[in-house]
Amino acid sequence: MSKEQFNGYDTSIIYEYKTFPDVKSGRCDNCDNAQFKSSVKNFTFIRECRKCGMKKSI
Ligand SMILES: [Zn+2]
Repeated sequence: MSKEQFNGYDTSIIYEYKTFPDVKSGRCDNCDNAQFKSSVKNFTFIRECRKCGMKKSI
């Protein structure tokens, strides 16, 4: 099952910011959206795009 994809990032996994720094700072690499919601999971800060759901651990 694949979700809708924009720039080809998989929204079902969490990307590491170290490995995938923002192409444009503060913007989603996948859809260029600038609104995120954040959560903490396993002591890691997770930033999730409100539009496409792409997740990065910061
Ligand atoms: Zn996005």
